[in-house]
Amino acid sequence: MSDQHLVEHLFRKYKCFVRNKSDAIEMESVAKAFGVLQLFGVNVPTETSFMEDYWTTIGPIIYTPRGERRSLGDQRRVLTHEIGHVIRFYLDPFKYPVAYATKEGRAEIEAYCERGAMEIEWLRTGRLYTLPNLFRHGYALDDGHVTLANDLLEQAATSVESGIISTPVGIEAREWMRENAPELLWQK
Ligand SMILES: [Zn+2]
Repeated sequence: MSDQHLVEHLFRKYKCFVRNKSDAIEMESVAKAFGVLQLFGVNVPTETSFMEDYWTTIGPIIYTPRGERRSLGDQRRVLTHEIGHVIRFYLDPFKYPVAYATKEGRAEIEAYCERGAMEIEWLRTGRLYTLPNLFRHGYALDDGHVTLANDLLEQAATSVESGIISTPVGIEAREWMRENAPELLWQK
């Protein structure tokens, strides 16, 4: 078993779909309709950079950057973050985009998704990764909301380091590895 199997399992479990931006004719119009680009605020990426450098999740579909040709398993770190967005979307498809459109909602949701990814990194490797850079997606957050998100993440990091796994994706990953791929668990 490998990270590929783990990611595929999580995709099935949470009904995620993955597409590459280069194959997704609809990407730009969909991004416009959902106001995705506006969320970048003053740091609006160029169209080229948006297509080539960013993972974007809209509803249940995770769009990978145009040049991304690594296997799903090799993209584990970022995909487990994106799965968090899909989970939140299904939880309340109508309220999710509304919440995400606010700075506070966005800070909270991004911290939630990072926590899930962090938990899986810890389960796999015993490391948290360096504290995530919240500007990875170019979120339009002001200083106050960056602080909020980083505070949430620091709290999460402390819990995860003491072995507390609390997000659905983290719990599911742990269960699946225990049953199917204990060799992937850092701590047996
Ligand atoms: Zn995100």
